[in-house]
Amino acid sequence: MDCLFCKIIAGEIPSAKVFENEKVFAFRDINPQAPVHVLIVPRAHIACADEITASNSEAVAAVFEAVPAVAAAEGLKNGYRIVNNCGADACQSVKHIHFHLLGGKQLSEKMD
Ligand code: 5GP
Ligand code: ZN
Repeated sequence: MDCLFCKIIAGEIPSAKVFENEKVFAFRDINPQAPVHVLIVPRAHIACADEITASNSEAVAAVFEAVPAVAAAEGLKNGYRIVNNCGADACQSVKHIHFHLLGGKQLSEKMD
C-alpha cells in the first residue's frame, strides 16, 4: 500500500520519533503549526475517522491511551489540543488516520 505514514512507521521514510509502543507511533509534524506539533498515529492502517469500526477501534483507543505520555514528554503542563481531519472538507491530506497534538503556546479559541 502506498501510504506515507505506513512508510514512516516502518522506518522507510525518516521521521523525528517522539513515542512508540506496540500499537502507536508518534512523530513531529514536518510543518509544525505550534511550538509542539506531534502526529500520533495507530500502526494499523485506518484511512480516516469514517473507517473506525468495532473491529479496529482498539487502535484508536491506543492512540488516546498514549496521549498523556506524549504530552508529558513534550512538557505540555498547561494543556493542548488534539485535532483529527477527516475527508475533503477538513483538508485531510494523508489518508492514514492521525491525531495532531498541538501545544506549547496559547492556542486560538477558533477551531476552523
Ligand atoms: P492532515 O492535513 O492530513 O490532517 O495532516 C497531515 C500532516 O502531515 C500535515 O500537518 C503535514 O505537515 C504532515 N506531513 C506531511 N508529510 C509529512 C512527512 O513526510 N513527515 C512528517 N513528519 N509530517 C508530514
Ligand atoms: Zn497507512
